[in-house]
Amino acid sequence: MLSLEVEARKQTAHQNRRKAARIPVSKTLDAFDFSFQPSINERQMRELAELSFVRTHSNVIFLGPPGVGKTHLALSLAESALNAGYSVFFSTLTELVEDLEMASQQHALKSRLRRYITPQVLVIDEIGYSSLSSPQANQLFELVRQRYERGSTILTSNTSFAQWGKLMNDEVLATALLDRLLHHAEVMTINGKSYRMKERLAATPAKGGTTPTPSAQ
Ligand code: ADP
Ligand code: MG
Repeated sequence: MLSLEVEARKQTAHQNRRKAARIPVSKTLDAFDFSFQPSINERQMRELAELSFVRTHSNVIFLGPPGVGKTHLALSLAESALNAGYSVFFSTLTELVEDLEMASQQHALKSRLRRYITPQVLVIDEIGYSSLSSPQANQLFELVRQRYERGSTILTSNTSFAQWGKLMNDEVLATALLDRLLHHAEVMTINGKSYRMKERLAATPAKGGTTPTPSAQ
């Protein structure tokens, strides 16, 4: 009886953590086709999924063009962390900076920052799609400063680090941010083809001139 109750409580805690994580879609390493993306070292990825980077408060950064699996891999690490009992939070950079900016306008920045500082694993997806305003860049820096050596951050970006100064409209701030992010970090650079395009091309009829049908997603 007692062990049943303990088990039920564990289940509830797990479900609550999953809900709080705001993971948009569940992805796993087992569903990742490593043969399609040879620039990713499968052994290194499997090692990361054992989560020693979470225990050492290190970061993981996925760099590469669109469609190569950056978000998929970030989500699968988030999934492993959730299953291991860690607290996780997922956000795109745009959502994050808009959220912080709104909180700042309502004089609630400090308490809203906690949402992003507290989780043991924070995923910041899609760095590089839009550039940041000066307050947004400062808020992002503040977040990274506060997570430094206290929590793990997983980031994905389609822009090289050299471009982050432009992204933040502030070279000095970008250098200080990268200095903290990269001090304890594993950087996975993916140079490969887009998996989305692969699906698209596979849907193209072998003959004839009809346009390819969009994939199910
Ligand atoms: P990115 O974030 O780099 O733009 P995504 O991770 O969103 O790319 O990948 C696009 C889609 O393709 C997702 O549905 C993802 O699950 C799938 N995908 C990407 N690469 C692979 C792969 N090597 N094996 C299986 N699915 C993949
Ligand atoms: Mg992505």
